[in-house]
Amino acid sequence: MNGLAQVRGLGLCSRCHVRKASLRLSYARMSLCDECFVKFVERKVERTLREYDMIEQGDKLLVALSGGKDSSALLHIIKGLAPDVKLTCLHIDLGIEGLSEQCRLKAEELASQEGVELEVVELRDFLGCSISELALQHKKTCSPCGLARRYILNYYGCLRGATKIATGHNLDDVLAVLWDLYVAGDLLEAVKLRPVTRSVHPKALSRIKPLIELTDFELKAYVDIKALPYSPAQCPFGRKSKLNERKKLIDAIESMYPSFKHTFLKTHVKRVSPLLSPLLASRATDRRSCARCGMLSKGELCGMCRLKERLKSE
Ligand code: AMP
Ligand code: ZN
Repeated sequence: MNGLAQVRGLGLCSRCHVRKASLRLSYARMSLCDECFVKFVERKVERTLREYDMIEQGDKLLVALSGGKDSSALLHIIKGLAPDVKLTCLHIDLGIEGLSEQCRLKAEELASQEGVELEVVELRDFLGCSISELALQHKKTCSPCGLARRYILNYYGCLRGATKIATGHNLDDVLAVLWDLYVAGDLLEAVKLRPVTRSVHPKALSRIKPLIELTDFELKAYVDIKALPYSPAQCPFGRKSKLNERKKLIDAIESMYPSFKHTFLKTHVKRVSPLLSPLLASRATDRRSCARCGMLSKGELCGMCRLKERLKSE
């Protein structure tokens, strides 16, 4: 039980007091009907967008649409809250057998339903091989996959004149990563995890996480109630197995201490990050442009160009 679990016999909705409640949000001490829950989620995203100035005048968003529940909810909610914002969507076909085809179809279905432009790019065109092919040679595909996805989002964002990249990272995703960083004492890395990451290089766009205050449970309920197209399939390479273990641990704490998750995030963003940000800025290594492709790099070549070299030589 994660403290947010759906419970039967919840009585009337705590908001409208008319309809029957369909789910319980323990941390908010509320039971809501579908209609009020949908409004609750959308208002929450609206508040997050406002609180962190996520969308500014003149912005053009590149929405990273994976075909999963979170980014499907993200696109639908942004379109509802800011119908006039300029946006374009990008789906990266990772070439994972048994997964990518379904994700791509769902992303296409949603984009056409929302009436937005969607560009689909194949990871293979950047890396020279798909993730399934990569897995045949290497055991670990997660870090090259993550690196390539970040690179491609920045690359296309710049190419299409976007000012920001919007991703569907949610509260559980962020806390699972933060947990490990805090336990390891890697606070300078933890500080980089925030609702808005400002651009540090012309080819590394600012990133926003409008769903950062919503949980997996809330987003799954939202896309199901709204019947949005999404793929529930999980990556067969266990990309998320470690993160899922952390999520379970944090869910267990939340079930004993409702609102632990929101408190953890608030403490991180409002208390720890402001203290450590100056230290991070003073330690910032020189941010260069990759000698080969011009994207952000720490050394002569960026991570993606180095990865491609490595794959070519193997
Ligand atoms: P994940 O790392 O799979 O939890 O994904 C986090 C966010 O990154 C998603 O909500 C999307 O916004 C974005 N993303 C992940 N995979 C893809 C993909 N294949 N294509 C486009 N965006 C993606
Ligand atoms: Zn490069």
